[in-house]
Amino acid sequence: MNIINAKLQRLMALSAAALVLSACSDGPAPAPDLDEESIAALTEDAEVFEGFFTAYRDPESGSVHLLINEDQLSEEFIYTAQTANGVVEAGQFTGAYVGNSVLTAERYYNRIEFVAQNTSFYFDPDNALSRAADANISNAILAVAEIVAEDEETGDILVNIDGLLLSESLQQVSDSDNPVTGGLDGDKSKVLAIRSYPDNTDFEVEYVYSGGEPSWSEDITDSRAISIRMLHSFVAMPDNDFTPRFADSRVGTFDTQVTDLTSTSSTPYRDLVHRWNLVKQDPSAELSDPVEPIVWWIENTTPVEWRELIMSAGLEWNKAFEKAGFSNAVEIKIQPDDADWDAGDIRYNVLRWTSSPTPPFGGYGPSFVNPRTGQIIGADIMLEASFLNRRRIISRWLAEGMNSPEDLSKQLDHLAGHTCSLGNHMQSANLSAFAFADFAAAEGMTAAEMTEQIVHDSMHYLILHEMGHTLGMNHNMKATQYLSPEESFDLEVVNEKGLAASVMDYPSVNFAPRGSEQTRFYAVTPGPYDAWFIKFSYSPELNDPAAMAAHLAKSTADDLIFGNDADDMRAPGWGIDPRVNIYDMSNDAVKYSELRMGLVRDVLDNMSPADVENGQSYDDLVVAIEAMMGEWRSAGNVTSRYVGGVYVDRALRGQEGATQPYEPVAEARQREAMALLAKYHFAPDAMEMNPEVIAHAQRMRRGFNNFGAPEDPKLHGAILAGQSGLLDHLLHPAVLQRLVDTTLYGNTFTVDEMMDELNSAIFSEDKSGNINTTRQNLQVEYVNRLVEIAKNEEGAFPTQAVSMAVLQLHELKEHFAKNRSVNRSTKAHSINLVSLIERGLHA
Ligand SMILES: [Zn+2]
Repeated sequence: MNIINAKLQRLMALSAAALVLSACSDGPAPAPDLDEESIAALTEDAEVFEGFFTAYRDPESGSVHLLINEDQLSEEFIYTAQTANGVVEAGQFTGAYVGNSVLTAERYYNRIEFVAQNTSFYFDPDNALSRAADANISNAILAVAEIVAEDEETGDILVNIDGLLLSESLQQVSDSDNPVTGGLDGDKSKVLAIRSYPDNTDFEVEYVYSGGEPSWSEDITDSRAISIRMLHSFVAMPDNDFTPRFADSRVGTFDTQVTDLTSTSSTPYRDLVHRWNLVKQDPSAELSDPVEPIVWWIENTTPVEWRELIMSAGLEWNKAFEKAGFSNAVEIKIQPDDADWDAGDIRYNVLRWTSSPTPPFGGYGPSFVNPRTGQIIGADIMLEASFLNRRRIISRWLAEGMNSPEDLSKQLDHLAGHTCSLGNHMQSANLSAFAFADFAAAEGMTAAEMTEQIVHDSMHYLILHEMGHTLGMNHNMKATQYLSPEESFDLEVVNEKGLAASVMDYPSVNFAPRGSEQTRFYAVTPGPYDAWFIKFSYSPELNDPAAMAAHLAKSTADDLIFGNDADDMRAPGWGIDPRVNIYDMSNDAVKYSELRMGLVRDVLDNMSPADVENGQSYDDLVVAIEAMMGEWRSAGNVTSRYVGGVYVDRALRGQEGATQPYEPVAEARQREAMALLAKYHFAPDAMEMNPEVIAHAQRMRRGFNNFGAPEDPKLHGAILAGQSGLLDHLLHPAVLQRLVDTTLYGNTFTVDEMMDELNSAIFSEDKSGNINTTRQNLQVEYVNRLVEIAKNEEGAFPTQAVSMAVLQLHELKEHFAKNRSVNRSTKAHSINLVSLIERGLHA
């Protein structure tokens, strides 16, 4: 062995030693003397778990050994890790699939290496380049286990896997960015359970962390010992004739990205669609039951009164599968109370119901796949009971005078991948619905009837949505563009067509304004996009490329439009197509927002402390106010995105019904959006409330908890936070730049016109008179932002916006420096503005 090789060996051995065992540091040791103890002798007293891999557990020490047959060496199997029980504060939550890869066990002298295979690339075997397939692509040796005995006759090899399981070598468990977690405490960590079946062998391990920063979160019992339970599964590579299907940019599939390195195309993608292995029992029949249906189990922890509702909701998916040629594709069963398996058993797909202290999602549909083909092997759905509660988990706008839904979205969605925060969004939408029902009930329905329907519709939507994820669907935040505002409040239309093109959006709750008909609050059955998607992913007919092309060519239809989280406009400066958004509804979101603001005004004008029942605290009143603040902010955010927006079309060249890929929003629509914002969000009376209501906005005291701030209602802060959120978008460098860029391909609403409209919305109405306190806040905020743009310290703002900011500052200074007959507060405010401008321009 030459020196370099020896060094490499040493490095490998060192890194392995950190993970596992007493690996030697001087390169490979001679083969072990295995004559002394046979496998039989070593495992004589051990507990045996026979299956895909056979495992042994020592009855005294709990030490775990794995039996690997030489036939299994170098054979690929699937590895997946799922959090069996997490601590949200420590970055892990129950049910999340955190690892999913292809592994092999490789022999290297006296040890077995567990090697993760790189599945990201494809080499056409007919191309000579495929001979260089391994160039610059390396597999990862995750862990090493010592061979302790072997049987030359049977080819069986026994390895000790304590180190493999009790370290983080297979899967990083702790969140290294999270200071609360601390370091892994090997002495306290242990293997809790082993299960082995013909196709999978599972190990449940409890990892204990200590030494992190103290945390006072209620989730953490004692921050000196944080336990996270992880389920590691080794799963046999499926032996079937599953045909991989490739992703298409017009359909929102979850997929495994694979790049063809032998292709010369500019888009050498062979991204594998995640889908179940559905095969028709009768391939010639137009409609056939599948050989194996997708079976869901409702966990026995589910409240009994909800089970029927959940089952009926989930079975709605069969309607979509029927259009793809399958009858009874989805089956739903209830886990018996005395079942001898639990939800962690990967052989069962379980609809799980939990009630967590701080739910990270409210609904979540993770799955794991064969990374070689995209076949979904298993899935679970985590549901949080809180989504129907009135207990506020997310909104403290009034007491804190800040914190926004966007902050929350960011907080939740950093957990990328299959994470879904629909449940949280729905909880907050439902709080609005309950407030509307209490204070602005639509005609023909009592508040109680309405509440019942809200529960029914939201449960259907949540179940359909989370199941949709497990069928391979990612979000379609464009799906609420389906109906006009009028149609969404027309029962006949909604009954016939449904409410949304897909259940994969985060919709606004569809509450009827006064004088309109209450239809569905949420879609209760899969929409046309969902059926089209299911056919794309599952119809055996579409194995034929021509049939597939014809199916995809329909993507330009109004009810099949698609845009996901990557494109949506929930946060300022993110996304460009205003139709792709959360919390919106209908194909005229601006008009819908206006209707919604009518409802909000209705509630604000009608609500009274007298509506609170005698003997109750005013907590429900606070919930209602905060819900209305949330609706006001959402309506504003949705509307603001039309300003500087660009409609995106992903149709391919020549596709019937295609428009150009980028189409700036028409000037009239942008002006309409600005006008709505001026009226409801920037006007002097924006979110004006009855003083009596504000004076009663008191939360119930609990111990010494003041909810992070003094308890008094801080309406100024809450209103300014909402207005600032809108300015964040309208004055975002990317939006201002887009207003300039789009003038080169059709946009006629220029950046100077937009900034003048905004200026007028913020100053015109009270320019010559007295200026109230909420308006003073807004004007100072706007002037500060103009100064920031004028200075352009980071060079992010377009020249035209910088010039406009300078011009407006000069004009504002001139105006406010004039001696006007106003009250003393307005006079002080005027001088303050002038001073801010002078300092800003000359600093
Ligand atoms: Zn979702």
